[in-house]
Amino acid sequence: MNTPTPVWTNWSGAVTARPEAIWRPRDEAELAGLIRAHAGGPIRPAGSGHSFTPLCASDGVIVSLEHMAGLISASPETGEAELWAGTPVYMVGPLLHAHGLGLANQGDVDRQTLGGAIGTGTHGTGVDLGSLSTMVCGVTLVTGAGDILTVDAKNDRELFEAARLSIGSLGVVTRFRLKLRPSYALNEASWAADAEETLNRLEEYAVKHRHFEFFWFPYADRVVAKSLDIAEGVRPERVLDIAGMKARGERVSAEEKAFQHIGRMVRYVPWTSAWFHRFLTRQMAAGEAKPGRVRWSWETFPSARTTRFNEMEYAVPRESAAAATRALVARIRAERIPTAFPIEFRFVKADDIWISPFHGRESVTLSVHQDPKMDQWRLFGAAEEICRSFGGRPHWGKQHRLKAADFEGMYPRWADFQAARRRADPEDKFLSPYLKELFETGIA
Ligand SMILES: Cc1cc2nc3c(=O)[nH]c(=O)nc-3n(C[C@H](O)[C@H](O)[C@H](O)COP(=O)(O)OP(=O)(O)OC[C@H]3O[C@@H](n4cnc5c(N)ncnc54)[C@H](O)[C@@H]3O)c2cc1C
Repeated sequence: MNTPTPVWTNWSGAVTARPEAIWRPRDEAELAGLIRAHAGGPIRPAGSGHSFTPLCASDGVIVSLEHMAGLISASPETGEAELWAGTPVYMVGPLLHAHGLGLANQGDVDRQTLGGAIGTGTHGTGVDLGSLSTMVCGVTLVTGAGDILTVDAKNDRELFEAARLSIGSLGVVTRFRLKLRPSYALNEASWAADAEETLNRLEEYAVKHRHFEFFWFPYADRVVAKSLDIAEGVRPERVLDIAGMKARGERVSAEEKAFQHIGRMVRYVPWTSAWFHRFLTRQMAAGEAKPGRVRWSWETFPSARTTRFNEMEYAVPRESAAAATRALVARIRAERIPTAFPIEFRFVKADDIWISPFHGRESVTLSVHQDPKMDQWRLFGAAEEICRSFGGRPHWGKQHRLKAADFEGMYPRWADFQAARRRADPEDKFLSPYLKELFETGIA
């Protein structure tokens, strides 16, 4: 009897793979044995499949660390904790809070695994806050040779630097040691504001708030801005546990249902975009947090995103923030590109990670989203051209059309990353056709 080929799909449904096998190892020794013995098609580690690019796709093997999730150890004294790489982000807050610790920042959903989020440089917003990859101070991984290595700044520095953001190309990361901060609560506020005025005051907001971002439905003249600041000394009584956090992220709210109807209207009657953008700006501002809402950080950062979309995101230098945003909106309007979604604008601190989009420069990120059933490249093609004209670098997990030759010129430590990759995986067991396009020049 033939065993049916498993089917793997990403969150948006745009990427499908039919691997020969999906491995679900229970520990590092089992995983190491499987990798050592493997001689077939590419091995691709996968988290929750929240990347929009085919990073995890393979007709060989997909590795899931669903059985390697949870906290290994935590020390409030050193402010560090070690977690399994298969841990979903929604588990991390409650697990760390029990030890008085918390992540310094998070993205706007918590469905990803640590392996995937750190593997792509997932970030939130805040001028003084780097991506999740910047919190990593130690990595344990199983390499292409099936060796289990633990690396940090003192022990194999080169491999450690590459492993802080590696899009699953060095092997399977099994554990991360993270530098954390004491557990904290956040005060959330949001408001609708004139778009041009917001762009003119960006630097003021950037330094005034620990976290500042805005959403701009591009046919509207107002944006919905959002800030988060530490509520010093406040310890909210409500503490959601892991089950509560998991359920919260899957809940489809009435607003989300209404938004899905609007999305369908825009798909069938594209010229309604402009009208809906003004309506959605008003609705979103009205539905956002009233000043004074204080919750624990891990409850505050994520929202439930149950409407499917595809997304492109570019990081551009912070000094070009306003100009790039204006140019993007002007282009969408000039070409009358339909979409139901807003542009999301965030700040990210510069880092020194070799292939991080924030390498060596203070950045802002511009994200555009599109209904998977609509032509996404009308919007993404325009956004990519604009962002690249400002020196933009793409998010590794979001749509882009760049190849190895583009990255070579973009990242000064590109060659060092490739050397570390070849050392960790000399037989290219983790190199899928898509990764070859990203890493090797001359591939179509
Ligand atoms: C609704 C939604 C909201 C999002 N919000 C944000 C946001 O706020 N900020 C942001 O920056 N991004 C955001 N993203 C993008 C997302 O955070 C990244 O694409 C992230 O990589 C997804 O994590 P994952 O666990 O699903 O990983 P996957 O998409 O499954 O994998 C991503 C990469 O990590 C590698 N990987 C996974 N696990 C391991 C492992 N154990 N060892 C080695 N490599 C591994 C994979 O091989 C792949 O290259 C969002 C995506 C969606 C769908």
